Amino acid sequence: MMFKIRMAYYFPVLNIYGDFKFKTGAKARCFFNLIKNKYLDEEGLLLHEMNHSKQFFRFSRKSWLYHFSKKWRLKSELECYALQTVYNVKNGVWSIGECLTSYSEYLVDWYDLDIKYTEAMELLKKEVKKYGS
Ligand SMILES: [Zn+2]
Repeated sequence: MMFKIRMAYYFPVLNIYGDFKFKTGAKARCFFNLIKNKYLDEEGLLLHEMNHSKQFFRFSRKSWLYHFSKKWRLKSELECYALQTVYNVKNGVWSIGECLTSYSEYLVDWYDLDIKYTEAMELLKKEVKKYGS
């Protein structure tokens, strides 16, 4: 097992890499994130999960809404995928097209959001623009 410690504002967050079986690449859990081993070198994914940790602190008592509100979950994931997109494009990991295509599919398939692919794509494009890409 591998670990990476990163800061979410003033709080250290433990990122644990292991042989996890869940369908997404990782699971964010406030002070620790579980990430599949195969993503050990994916800084963009780590950034995505660390942003969830920041959301926990930023939204504080409202962060439980992630689990109960599709709207809130969509908002949270769009922000994280937008940051991941900006990082991956800036660092030449993936093209903007590859990011938008894959992440829109993930948004449709993994989060029980009841949105269609074209809608996910449009929302993600809009969100990415906020972060200057
Ligand atoms: Zn996420």
